[in-house]
Amino acid sequence: MRVAIAGAGLAGLSCAKYLTDLGYTPIVLESRDVLGGLVAAWQDADGDWYETGLHVFFGAYPNMLQLLKELGIEDRLQWKKHTMIFNQPEKPGTYSRFDFPNLPAPLNGIVAILRNNDMLSWGEKIELAKGLVPAMLRGQKYVDSTDQYTFSEWLKQQGVSEDVQQDIFIAASKSLNFINPDEISAVVLLTALSRFLQQKDGSKMAFLDGSPTERLCQPLVDYITARGGEVRLNAPLKEILLNEDGTVKGFLMRGLNGAADYIETADVYVSAMPVDVMKVMLPNPWKENDFFQKLEGLEGVPVVNLQLWFDRKLTDIDQLLFSRSPLLSVYADMSNTCRGYANPERSMLELVLAPAKDWIAKSDEEILQATLAELQKLFPSHFSGDNPAKLLKYHVVKTPRSVYKATPGRQHYRPSQQTPISNFFLSGSYTMQPYLGSMEGAVLSGKLTAQAIAEGHSVANSSTLQMQTPQPATNAATV
Ligand SMILES: Cc1cc2nc3c(=O)[nH]c(=O)nc-3n(C[C@H](O)[C@H](O)[C@H](O)COP(=O)(O)OP(=O)(O)OC[C@H]3O[C@@H](n4cnc5c(N)ncnc54)[C@H](O)[C@@H]3O)c2cc1C
Repeated sequence: MRVAIAGAGLAGLSCAKYLTDLGYTPIVLESRDVLGGLVAAWQDADGDWYETGLHVFFGAYPNMLQLLKELGIEDRLQWKKHTMIFNQPEKPGTYSRFDFPNLPAPLNGIVAILRNNDMLSWGEKIELAKGLVPAMLRGQKYVDSTDQYTFSEWLKQQGVSEDVQQDIFIAASKSLNFINPDEISAVVLLTALSRFLQQKDGSKMAFLDGSPTERLCQPLVDYITARGGEVRLNAPLKEILLNEDGTVKGFLMRGLNGAADYIETADVYVSAMPVDVMKVMLPNPWKENDFFQKLEGLEGVPVVNLQLWFDRKLTDIDQLLFSRSPLLSVYADMSNTCRGYANPERSMLELVLAPAKDWIAKSDEEILQATLAELQKLFPSHFSGDNPAKLLKYHVVKTPRSVYKATPGRQHYRPSQQTPISNFFLSGSYTMQPYLGSMEGAVLSGKLTAQAIAEGHSVANSSTLQMQTPQPATNAATV
């Protein structure tokens, strides 16, 4: 049975991979000339890779870890020390760490917080614990119910002061969804916190050993094609063609470089395109349907990624850093963190600029200058004196609509992978799954889509897939 999938991001590729496991023949149609969607990367004239975004993998990503194992590439993840490192704006050039000891969860997280005296006073620790611990004890059902509040509103209700919010949660909120705590839904931070507190290695981080396009997406393509599937680049879906009964008749594909448009037919069709694209591509008859109307409640959030190559080493830290800068979110010296980008002599910083709504329309040069001004605060000793660090080259990648913007109430608008149309399914990190807008969410959504297809359109050797979903809410009671 043939399944046409529009979009070769992680969701589309994961869906195709699991469909081949279930005995289907997927054909993935990607509009661009590069694999990966939001994890896409390109090589510049010097052969250096530049990426859509700085990507970190967590211990609490069971479906991603399982996928890497199934592809035989789990050794490509470079696991870092179990620590979280924050810049200290009040003491430029210094860092504050949350070091997780080798203890069972949630003890390791609690000790990490208790041992940190730079960012939280004892009074703040107690205040925070009083707010957070009951929330964790009440389990995932309670966490889900907090989607009506912004995280700032929720903290205020718990009696947690503004200072605690400034110290930790602005950095966490920007890293999770590229927006501030006064915009982000409480469900996002509470979900992440409960995963991190429930699993010993949940917040442990890893970097891929090279570009996601080459080191993660290409093995997926190799797996899919070795089993009879196809992944085609430069294949933009132009229109979803319908039968009279509203089911899909075919994908009308845009012919590129003067070639004529053509129709791709299959037994089942999947959109693994971003929600913003899906919304404009909805066929008119579907627009009346509540299920598809809900997509209007979702929208991608802007973000900017920068990569800067310097003439010297700025740091030897081999870990993600939370900048705590109003302009920037997280960053890393990829010459330390990533084997494929390693350089013992020179730093290559990869930085996420967020919130980006006021920056997305600005020129690369303006964005660069503002970022360099921030770097003077983060690395004061390297940007002052007679011989300041020199920028050798840079790349700026702007994504006006990235993952869905997780403001309060969005959970209600996130669709299931199965739709009211019997031969049409959705995939993508915006679709309903418990890992929000992440790589893990994209991979799991692809798997859920494959499973939903198998349930409705069985083939001879169809079996069930092993889903890795978070532990039941009752486990939270061990906190
Ligand atoms: C800057 C940044 C940093 C991030 N950091 C992290 C991180 O550290 N950890 C983490 O877990 N997640 C992170 N994410 C989120 C993660 O990248 C996404 O959740 C995930 O990659 C989304 O995958 P997807 O397949 O759902 O969607 P997408 O990647 O958006 O894939 C959709 C695909 O559809 C294609 N498409 C669009 N229109 C058409 C058309 N007409 N025809 C055919 N194809 C089409 C697109 O080109 C794209 O390839 C980050 C994202 C960004 C932008």
